[in-house]
Amino acid sequence: MEKGIVLNDIYERSLAGKITKKDAAGLLKANVYDLFATADRLRQEIVGDTVTYVVNRNINFTDRCIGTCRFCSFRNSVGFQLTIPQILRKVGEAKEKIGATEVCIQGGLQPDMGLPDYVAMIRAIKAKYDIHTHAFSPMEVYHMSQVSGVPVEESLRQLKAAGLDSMPGTAAEILVDRVRAQICPDKLTTAEWVDVVTKAHRAGIPTTATIMYGHVESWKDRLDHLFLIRDIQRKTGGITELVPLTFMYQNNALTKKSMGASGLDDMRMYAIARVIFGRDLPNVQASWVKLGVKLAQVALWCGANDVGGTIMEENISKSAGAKSGEYMSPQALRTIIKAAGRVPHQRNTLYQLID
Ligand code: SF4
Repeated sequence: MEKGIVLNDIYERSLAGKITKKDAAGLLKANVYDLFATADRLRQEIVGDTVTYVVNRNINFTDRCIGTCRFCSFRNSVGFQLTIPQILRKVGEAKEKIGATEVCIQGGLQPDMGLPDYVAMIRAIKAKYDIHTHAFSPMEVYHMSQVSGVPVEESLRQLKAAGLDSMPGTAAEILVDRVRAQICPDKLTTAEWVDVVTKAHRAGIPTTATIMYGHVESWKDRLDHLFLIRDIQRKTGGITELVPLTFMYQNNALTKKSMGASGLDDMRMYAIARVIFGRDLPNVQASWVKLGVKLAQVALWCGANDVGGTIMEENISKSAGAKSGEYMSPQALRTIIKAAGRVPHQRNTLYQLID
């Protein structure tokens, strides 16, 4: 295999926080081996050989949704709605069976579900279990605020008081309104997403950041998105990781428009993200659910330093054709990381190492 050469100027500029959109666009024309070698060297410099994972469970409390996102294969696919006792049972299972440190809770949007319903969910979990609640996308926070007629700041304040520990930075898709108009016209706008996330950080609620790519967007749109995330991070410091989410193309209205990104394009996304974020955002997650295990291992050589969670239950990607299953034991994740030549460590949601 051809060996890449580290692009020294890009390497130095990334570490100094000086990568521009022009630099990033130029990297798209670079030899991919050089791009991957540069991203890998940055990963090594910034986070070393440790590759982390989190022991968690996803809980989708409903698939009923009034949203119209065209990439969504999850909405109303079964028509379920969990009660609080059912949610508590799932949290209990996650703690007992795998020693989960986090539950990640998201669901569809219902016209009659307002702030008190979301607050009650978090309060009930925290009353019974000592576990990190990573819950509710910026869209859900926006939705509950609208339904209840309260400002976003107040929703965030009440959620935090109830025990919300952090939020997934989902619903970001591509943060370019022209693209959003095509793929999720009824979702919150780019400015509204930024507003909710920034307010969450100010309220002491960290978030992740995501990008869903490989559908109708261009590379320019992807770069606009990544630089916007970097700007937010520079202002608030509240983002814990970037999670690139490759578009899962089955069973949705965008299926005819895109078969998703190629594996090579996926790896380019990881490498470019690593270069753009430099020391601003040290953690880039390779989602084994979306990429599949083998490509996630390759991503660890293209800039990624985390493989996500044990998940335990996965409905959203599965509805869209993901084949990688719903659960990976902590031991299996460690084996996958070691097989890729890295050193596994369990982390918590906020990237503190547990072992
Ligand atoms: S992505 Fe979320 S908000 Fe959009 S339609 Fe699907 S469940 Fe609803």
